[in-house]
Amino acid sequence: MNPRMVFIIFNIFIVILALFLVFKMNGEYGKVIHGASWDAKVFGNKYVVSLKNNSEIVEALTDFVKTQDIKAGTISGLGAVNSVTLRFFNPETKQYEDKTFNEQMEISNLIGNISTKDGKEYLHLHITLGNSEYKSIAGHLLKATINGAGEFVVEAYQNAKIERKFDSNTGLNIYNFEEK
Ligand code: FE
Repeated sequence: MNPRMVFIIFNIFIVILALFLVFKMNGEYGKVIHGASWDAKVFGNKYVVSLKNNSEIVEALTDFVKTQDIKAGTISGLGAVNSVTLRFFNPETKQYEDKTFNEQMEISNLIGNISTKDGKEYLHLHITLGNSEYKSIAGHLLKATINGAGEFVVEAYQNAKIERKFDSNTGLNIYNFEEK
């Protein structure tokens, strides 16, 4: 075979490969996936996540990041709950103080990050809620039960891993960027 022919065949091969990859990527973009307590639509490294009614937020989001193998990223969201347990860390005593509120509230904001501790998925979530009086409470989210909708966006950092470790100085699980 003459070199010109080889060159033409090689180019045809490259074009077919490129078309195949473009079609494959288009098929993945906007793909819908399902879990026991969530449904999600995938747009590259961003996931639009809908939590099922009556699911517990921390449990459902942890299940989501575990099944998608997300080791680092961010979470934001809104929705409505009828029960929430918030945690307050007292730096003086290094003790947690937990408080549960059983009433219908709107999640006006949930913000969080995804990392790992001892290699296991670790979510750090904070939440602001508004009640029927339009008054708000806020804090570190321990658990909350969806009553209505739970709409979240998870952004996964690709090929990333961020570890935490317990810091006896503060009494907190803080970032350990030295850990690979
Ligand atoms: Fe916190």
